[in-house]
Amino acid sequence: MHPSLERAIAKYMPDGLIPPEYKEFISVIDRAYIRSEEDRTLIERSLELASKELNERNKALKQKKQEVELEVIAKTKELHEKVIDLAEVNAKTELVFNSMGEALIAFDPTGKVLFFNERAHTMFALTPSVVGLLWTDIFTLEDKNSHPISIELALMGKTPHSENAIYEPLVYLVAKNGKRIPVAITSAPLIVGDHPQGWVTLFRDIKADLEIDQAKTEFVSLASHQMRTPLTAIKGYTSMLLEGDGGEISDKQRIYLAAIERSNNRMVDLINALLNASRIELGVFAIEPKPINIVEVADIAITELNVQIVQREIVFSKNYTEVPNTINADPHLTKIIFQNLISNAIKYTPKGGAVSLSLSGTPNGLSIEVSDTGIGIPKNEQSKIFTKLFRADNARITETEGTGLGLYIVKSVVEESGGEIFFESEENKGTRFFVSLPVSGMKQRKGTRGLQ
Ligand code: ADP
Repeated sequence: MHPSLERAIAKYMPDGLIPPEYKEFISVIDRAYIRSEEDRTLIERSLELASKELNERNKALKQKKQEVELEVIAKTKELHEKVIDLAEVNAKTELVFNSMGEALIAFDPTGKVLFFNERAHTMFALTPSVVGLLWTDIFTLEDKNSHPISIELALMGKTPHSENAIYEPLVYLVAKNGKRIPVAITSAPLIVGDHPQGWVTLFRDIKADLEIDQAKTEFVSLASHQMRTPLTAIKGYTSMLLEGDGGEISDKQRIYLAAIERSNNRMVDLINALLNASRIELGVFAIEPKPINIVEVADIAITELNVQIVQREIVFSKNYTEVPNTINADPHLTKIIFQNLISNAIKYTPKGGAVSLSLSGTPNGLSIEVSDTGIGIPKNEQSKIFTKLFRADNARITETEGTGLGLYIVKSVVEESGGEIFFESEENKGTRFFVSLPVSGMKQRKGTRGLQ
């Protein structure tokens, strides 16, 4: 029997006599006591186990927490270092951008300023508020004659949509404070993935380069001018010798003197071309238009080239239609235009070919056309044909004599006097040069020198 029940029976039935009708009842109670005792023990054990497990979990959790805390500390440290690195990279990039000698501006695809460096700030007298403004609000671009240049030409081109950077070697930038700076521009697209995000443009101040160029041109001008005096003396004395002024000369001596004369003439032509090119570059050549008979000027140029026409057996034709009696033009410069275009046509046309000069009066002015059936200009070299000193490959092979200055001079003269020049050409078929002068004739241009 359970001890608690025994104690209760002893208390209430001290004589130990249990009435038989209670025996069954007491035995039920005894079993209940025993079961409750077992349940209690079970509960206590379960509680003990649960608390043990809880303790262990707590311990594990605490450990985990410590581990996580350590990891967080390590990560924070790492992040901090990265932030410092990034700030350093940023500072370096900014330092590089701001130490650049060139002005740098980044634009979005609509032409609004995204970013500019320190040099841009000083070069264009910018304020920080220009970010977000359109480029046209902060500067304008001009060519050397102060004609505005559109952004398509100078900055953008096809840039945001193309792979290639564009380069403009000489553009004048006019800042909002009126400062006019000669700059070379390099513009490249800003492409993220496949998407154009705008473009970035570098402006290099080329004032010093232009001054060096000017000094070089002045040197060429001076040197060519000085060289003309001895060449003129050689020419004079050679022709005197050839004419027998120095006494009789033998046939051999005549051949040698004729060779000296030819070379000297070539040298004079070269020196004159150099002098003209330098006068054009220095901007000192004058255009003095007056009413002239253009047919007469053209005919004089043709007559002077007659020897070459005959030598090369060229079939020369003239076609003059509705040419005005007089046109306002500089006679000397007009002759230079005819001489260059016609002598080129003769020079670059094989023996027996045809050259023609057409002059026609149009409602827009005067149109000059010089065409030939010569070697033509290769397609891939046509864009460079008016460039100073440029000679096409086929021309170098067929005609070794040439300076590459003639067309440069002609184009400068035509354009400075308000006209236009262009050409059409097909290799081995022929070339046609077109010059047009406005009805008003050539524009006057003040200058201290003429062209030779
Ligand atoms: P050059 O002294 O070489 O003739 P120009 O400046 O007069 O110099 O011409 C430049 C180049 O243009 C020539 O070298 C030649 O390649 C090309 N050219 C000019 N005119 C003609 C023409 N009528 N036919 C073919 N090529 C020409």
